[in-house]
Amino acid sequence: MECVFSNNKLFINGYVMVKNKVRENRYNWECEKRVHRKNAETTENCSARATTDCVNGVHTLCGTPTDHNHAPEAHRATVIDFRTNIKKRAHSTRDKPSQILQEVISNIPLSIQPYLPRPEAVRKIIKRKRRKCLPAEPTNLEEINIPISLRNTFAGELFLLREIELILSGEPKLRQHPKYAARKKRLNNIIDDKCNRTIIDFLKGIAYNIKL
Ligand SMILES: [Zn+2]
Repeated sequence: MECVFSNNKLFINGYVMVKNKVRENRYNWECEKRVHRKNAETTENCSARATTDCVNGVHTLCGTPTDHNHAPEAHRATVIDFRTNIKKRAHSTRDKPSQILQEVISNIPLSIQPYLPRPEAVRKIIKRKRRKCLPAEPTNLEEINIPISLRNTFAGELFLLREIELILSGEPKLRQHPKYAARKKRLNNIIDDKCNRTIIDFLKGIAYNIKL
């Protein structure tokens, strides 16, 4: 009896078994079509079970699995592999969904391709996976946590580090260069002192500071 463990599932002769209970090395599996919810609206509910012993990641069947109430589906293992590979590429690359689909589908035999999810469903799988990997949306400045991967330029240098640090430390904007800050202060003093100066003195003061 062919028994293959892959993607956390057990494939036995075209049937897919999912993990139920694990005690030490002994694994209890049940058919993926088993329905746990009471009064679930489905006609498919298979109660087939299997047991394996796992040694160094290799599963060996203990006894004979109980019978299924449906036909085996030889393509299921490949379809599950397909979904896993789509999710892996969605996570590890920034490729467009059409590109990911094209690459992953190229390894699938033509006879199994009709059983694969439609392109629109694949796009949704990719979108969901990428959304799950995004950091939580911040509700205030303190919560902004920019992932390290987004702080680097392609050359590996820190990008906008100073600006990011200032924002995170609560500074509203970049500090002004001391030279300009001092000039602004002198101009303000001249404007405040306007009534104590003649118009010529006032304009001279302004002109002198703008020239600097
Ligand atoms: Zn079954």
